[in-house]
Amino acid sequence: MRPIQMVDTKTQYHKIKKEVDEAVLQVMESSAFINGKPVHDFSANLSSYLGVKHTVPCANGTDALQIAMMAIGLQPGDEVITPSFTYIATTEVIALLRLTPVFAEVDPETFCIDPASLEKMITPKTKAIVPVHLYGHAAPMEEIMAIAGKHGLYVIEDNAQAIGCEYTFSDGTKKKTGAIGHIGATSFYPSKNLGAFGDGGAIFTNDDGLAGKMRMIANHGQSKRYYHDVVGCNSRLDTLQAAILDIKLRHLDEYIAARRKAADFYDQAFDGHKILKAPYRAGYSHHVFHQYTLIIDGVADPVKFRDGLNQFLADHKIPSMIYYPVPGHRQKMFDQFNTSAQNMPVTDWLTQRVISLPMHTELDEEQLGFITGKVKEYAEN
Ligand SMILES: *Cc1c(COP(=O)(O)O)cnc(C)c1O
Repeated sequence: MRPIQMVDTKTQYHKIKKEVDEAVLQVMESSAFINGKPVHDFSANLSSYLGVKHTVPCANGTDALQIAMMAIGLQPGDEVITPSFTYIATTEVIALLRLTPVFAEVDPETFCIDPASLEKMITPKTKAIVPVHLYGHAAPMEEIMAIAGKHGLYVIEDNAQAIGCEYTFSDGTKKKTGAIGHIGATSFYPSKNLGAFGDGGAIFTNDDGLAGKMRMIANHGQSKRYYHDVVGCNSRLDTLQAAILDIKLRHLDEYIAARRKAADFYDQAFDGHKILKAPYRAGYSHHVFHQYTLIIDGVADPVKFRDGLNQFLADHKIPSMIYYPVPGHRQKMFDQFNTSAQNMPVTDWLTQRVISLPMHTELDEEQLGFITGKVKEYAEN
């Protein structure tokens, strides 16, 4: 059996090595390392893939979120509502910009922001909502957009884990996540569903004004060479990364299909299990399985059970991860907002019970069979 990894970017590379190597060599020869043609080609191709008017490339997913938040013109102290149950990048940039992060609960089945909790957190200071399509499952965007519309709020989608995910509205209309809110942000970190060979990110919008503003912010607030209209930053997608991503984009749907196939295998193995609950798939979301995350339910001490499972799997050379062991509202960095005093039972409940199994495009049935066999062996003893 091939060794089991959490993510296997090497095998994935070897399957497209010829195309990738050629594109990389071409960039080397052109020596247009910054803002070369592949940056524009990839941005245009990604826009058409997502069905969005503008793609603004940038250096990473965290910058993408930061630039998006800078573009909507918020003032220090303005409140931004986001789930506590997410990667720290989502919430950190809010505080970095001297805005106030306000945490909402997630739905215990989809792991995404709960619209009822979100609506309860709205105050006159609220200016924006940042839903996260966690693990590759879409947040309930139809409800979120309706709430945002009612209260005049911006919606910035954190699409770092769900690129390629399709959302189906109740009237049957389909849209890709990242192209539904006012702005979408994503990451091309190597382990993401569309991963570069280094860092990268992008911001999406259908709004011409916001697109221009975000391009300007990502480029030192520059409107014309050496004329700087607003305070910005320096955030670029390297030409080399864009060239690689442009090739990988052609394979994205195939990569998603491979992840879903692995998820189907896992689902079948855990179907009806009394302790291990397979991830839920809402009808509106085409799950792209950035992670395959089980919920450990029905044991007296889930944390102890989980630590034991993690160790048992490690002993059999199977990696597993806890995404995320500490939710946002309990992070020390937010002490100034006193968020740990907030009552977030669903988030705390999930934090103690989630465990993610290996998930990538290169898992074969022998590996999946071994993983599910060992997980069940631990759970049933
Ligand atoms: C990865 C990730 C980010 C940040 O992306 P980077 O490219 O690492 O900066 C933001 N939000 C979520 C949900 C992520 O998973």
